[in-house]
Amino acid sequence: MDTGGNSLPSGADGKKRRVFYYYDPEVGNYYYGQCHPMKPHRMRMTHALLAHYGLLQHMNVLKPHPAREKDLCRFHADDYVKFLKTVTPDTQQDNMMQLRRFNVGEDCPVFDGLYSFCQIYTGGSIGGAVKLNHGQCDIAINWAGGLHHAKKCEASGFCYVNDIVLAILELLKVHERVLYVDIDIHHGDGVEEAFYVTDRVMTVSFHKFGDYFPGTGDIRDIGFRKGKYYAVNVPLNDGIDDESYQSLFKPIISKVMEVFRPGAVVLQCGADSLSGDRLGCFNLSVKGHAECVRFMRSFDVPLLLLGGGGYTIRNVARCWCYETGVALATEIDNKLPLHEYIEYFGPDYTLHVAPCNMENKNSHDFLDKVRVKVLNNLSKLQHAPSVQFQERPPDTELPEADEDEDDKNERKDPDSDVDVDLDNERRVKMESVEPESNDKDDMEVDKQTREVDPTSAQVSCLEGSILAAEAADEPDDKVEKPNAENPHDQLDEMDQD
Ligand SMILES: [Zn+2]
Repeated sequence: MDTGGNSLPSGADGKKRRVFYYYDPEVGNYYYGQCHPMKPHRMRMTHALLAHYGLLQHMNVLKPHPAREKDLCRFHADDYVKFLKTVTPDTQQDNMMQLRRFNVGEDCPVFDGLYSFCQIYTGGSIGGAVKLNHGQCDIAINWAGGLHHAKKCEASGFCYVNDIVLAILELLKVHERVLYVDIDIHHGDGVEEAFYVTDRVMTVSFHKFGDYFPGTGDIRDIGFRKGKYYAVNVPLNDGIDDESYQSLFKPIISKVMEVFRPGAVVLQCGADSLSGDRLGCFNLSVKGHAECVRFMRSFDVPLLLLGGGGYTIRNVARCWCYETGVALATEIDNKLPLHEYIEYFGPDYTLHVAPCNMENKNSHDFLDKVRVKVLNNLSKLQHAPSVQFQERPPDTELPEADEDEDDKNERKDPDSDVDVDLDNERRVKMESVEPESNDKDDMEVDKQTREVDPTSAQVSCLEGSILAAEAADEPDDKVEKPNAENPHDQLDEMDQD
């Protein structure tokens, strides 16, 4: 496999980068509910691994400032944010209409502390963007972020607030162009939709396509108006392995970097694309997944690393720990250090686990056709667009004056464990005894066949476009998106091209 860097001038892979890592010790205590596959506890497991591998002392460890209501409203509708702020498990039944309207209840349940959970994970992503904007670090990491399905006024796929869109909006204050890359097994629909009509953000999503949540991400969905060719979709089939994945990822990303020349990159590292994921069906190893981080890092462009999906939580922790090591250019031992969650990692107690022997349903022919089609679309972009900057918008006002002080206080003792109160300890125990079955039928979550109407979603996006300046001078007509049911239809179409 080609593991070389890229054709652009960049630092050697071994070159150190200044890394800021966002973590709130409380984040692992939030609990979506029994049987719900999304477990914020995985961030605490990741953090424990980082601490015991001794990686924390090589980074600035920061506790995020919780994002405020007005920060969230830069993308989300006011009434939706108000609803998230006020709804509680006890009162949710009082307003069934709003629950339905905002798609809250099943996949996206109301749980204790829902709003503060959103504030924390979003605060880390926006905070990381601000640090990158200030040139204070080269790489910012927020494993609690990456909730790519949330829409302007709707929760979706376990996501309530789209921290990614908000972080990209922050980066756009300084950078003319921002690249978003998504390696979660699910299509990065919320981010794509938010920036579908602009050429200042390119979204590139690699995902399982065909009878799978959220249903969008057809290779023929390429963006609209000014944004035409600035949305890139790479549809994949079950069982993709490291080599097949990189045979698309590297040439596509190389071409994207060449033609788009982003000032900053956001990489969503959803770990449900790993082999053996409870909801996923890909066959990537941790090293194969992390190769995307390694490759992206090699371009030496300010980089925001975010989490995302990931439902076999021992593998999520393995993956994000190893990828933090990649960010730091530190190769870590395969033998896991002894720590409070070690029993999750039996019987091998190693960082890396072998992928399984499942069939790879991505033939060479299929991969070649996808690669040719996507590269062909990218070749239609002659050069990177630029914008006229009138005046740099103000930063999202994190309390700058106190912040350095806070940062000092918040720098974690790498050897300290996270405090867990008794109540939460109990919750964690409940989670840990829950079997991680691969039986996908036993829950309503992640409805793989959910009906979607990208056209109507797109229209609502246009109406409330976050990039008001972009949309203002455009006529308000409808966006037509092709909606193939499965990749084979697309292949037929590619043959005709
Ligand atoms: Zn996912």
